[in-house]
Amino acid sequence: MKYECDVIEDLLPLYKDGVCSKASLKAVEEHLAECPKCTQMLNALKDTVIDELIVRERDEVIDSQSRFFKRRSAVIGSVLAAVFALPILICLIVDLASGNGLGWFFIVLASMLIPTSIFVVPLMAPKNRMFLTMCSFTFSVILLLAVICIYSRGSWFFIAASSVLFGLSLCFVPFIVCRRPVNAYLKNYKGLAAMTIITATFFLMMICIGIHVASRKYFILAFGISVPMVLLVWVVFLIIRYMPANGFVKAGTSIGVISIGSFVANMMITQIVISKLDEVMVYTDHSQISSIIGVVIGMILITIGLVVKKGENKENA
Ligand SMILES: [Zn+2]
Repeated sequence: MKYECDVIEDLLPLYKDGVCSKASLKAVEEHLAECPKCTQMLNALKDTVIDELIVRERDEVIDSQSRFFKRRSAVIGSVLAAVFALPILICLIVDLASGNGLGWFFIVLASMLIPTSIFVVPLMAPKNRMFLTMCSFTFSVILLLAVICIYSRGSWFFIAASSVLFGLSLCFVPFIVCRRPVNAYLKNYKGLAAMTIITATFFLMMICIGIHVASRKYFILAFGISVPMVLLVWVVFLIIRYMPANGFVKAGTSIGVISIGSFVANMMITQIVISKLDEVMVYTDHSQISSIIGVVIGMILITIGLVVKKGENKENA
């Protein structure tokens, strides 16, 4: 062979692109005719180019498709928004024509915001769709309640709004904390944040109802019962989220804690009700039996978990 493989290898990219000099072209072709190793290298070079082309083409297709869907979503969103605006406009005209003020107009306006938040926001929002949809839905429901409450001169707004807020946060918060943009701020504390928000909205609801009811008995009963229960839920959450053990041990501990906790809570609640309210509650108590069964099941699961862990440790060793 006239040239070393190293020299030809350096020339191969130029040869492949057809930009080398005539002398180099001749040298490479002569060498390739005799050297299978360099021929193979040339083929590999050509393959990479094809791969790059395929990747570029795929990206272009995805890009154009996503642009197409975005455009189509925007069009559908605009049409829907126009459809939802129609009843608002009709109501405005009727209200103005009848000379009775704008009462109904505001109710229809607020109620049309609910379907808008469900259908138009996810189609039109450029990013963070889930977050924006859930927030705008919650906001529009509460706004509708406020408008109806004002229109009907009711005093129930805070009860209704706080209950809706609690219910919706129970449904939405677990999703919101896991999605953009919230998840970036929460990092590893998503569960903790979700539990805190849900607990806060729950007690907000209880306080709003209490203020409306304005009775000492309500606060004693409501908080006497709910605080131990919420504490129990928190303990189970902390066990599942932060206990360094396998699934069986966590499940067993949770069942055990629930059984003992509900028994203790039951006793506490009974004490509160009897001592603070001076009322004799007649009720049958089966919680002892169910607590014992729960503790036994919990202990069985913990034992299984520990045995499984021991087995895994042995395998690893
Ligand atoms: Zn060679």
